[in-house]
Amino acid sequence: MRVMNRNLYLCLACLTVAGCATLEEYTGLSAGGSGLVTNLNLVSTEKEVQLGQQFSTEVEKEEPLLNNPAIQHYVEEVGGRLARLAPRQEVSYSFKVIDAPDTVNAFALPGGYMYIYTGLMKLCDNEAELAAVMAHEIAHVSGKHHGEMMTRQTGMEVISSIALGENPGAAATLASQLFTSGVAARFSRAQEREADSTGMDILYRAGYPPEAMVSFMNKLLALDRESGGGRSLPIFATHPSPEERVALLQDLMRQYPEENHSYGEDRYFEEVRSHF
Ligand SMILES: [Zn+2]
Repeated sequence: MRVMNRNLYLCLACLTVAGCATLEEYTGLSAGGSGLVTNLNLVSTEKEVQLGQQFSTEVEKEEPLLNNPAIQHYVEEVGGRLARLAPRQEVSYSFKVIDAPDTVNAFALPGGYMYIYTGLMKLCDNEAELAAVMAHEIAHVSGKHHGEMMTRQTGMEVISSIALGENPGAAATLASQLFTSGVAARFSRAQEREADSTGMDILYRAGYPPEAMVSFMNKLLALDRESGGGRSLPIFATHPSPEERVALLQDLMRQYPEENHSYGEDRYFEEVRSHF
């Protein structure tokens, strides 16, 4: 059923977006990982938060939230500890768990609305790995990457009409297209590098070992190899170049002193893994 919805969304997406020139077409520039236009952001924080609110409504219509207040509270607590260290503090970060044990994914919407799938939580062996994923997503929000991505890949008419509440159909389409399935838009390599770098900094300052970012990334790669190496995990749709990221993360890790940071293994088992 969900697959059918996705396909329907895609068709609607084509119909809605096809008529609007994107900034990429206006400028003739293509991001394509070159980082050329990645820092151009025409979406104000106010508009970004409005879009995020609408997208989150659409996501929650489509995806079942986990009905487990204890796990929800735990994830909020971990997220809160990370978010207060984010360089960008004028948005309020929120964290919700989606009940989809077979889906390895996590994403943040514009404005700081983050969703973590239970399938990804099952793959984490400790709190530090979950925090690593969340810190990376917080860093995307903090770096205003969503505004940059939408500026690059979505017609400004669409963004404006959604922010004004004039086009609820387009809100649903874009939420699905840009964020949950990630078929139409990816963060650029430059944005990924920044999210890894800022994310690792947040992770370290929150008292977690930076290695957790590398160990989780390696787990994703191993899972991908097991399933034929086709990059079919949803998380790869929005996060390109995993091998490149592992190499970069290993480089970044060397900047941090080895300290006795906690992986939170026991706590993670008690609070999360024992429930799955
Ligand atoms: Zn990313």
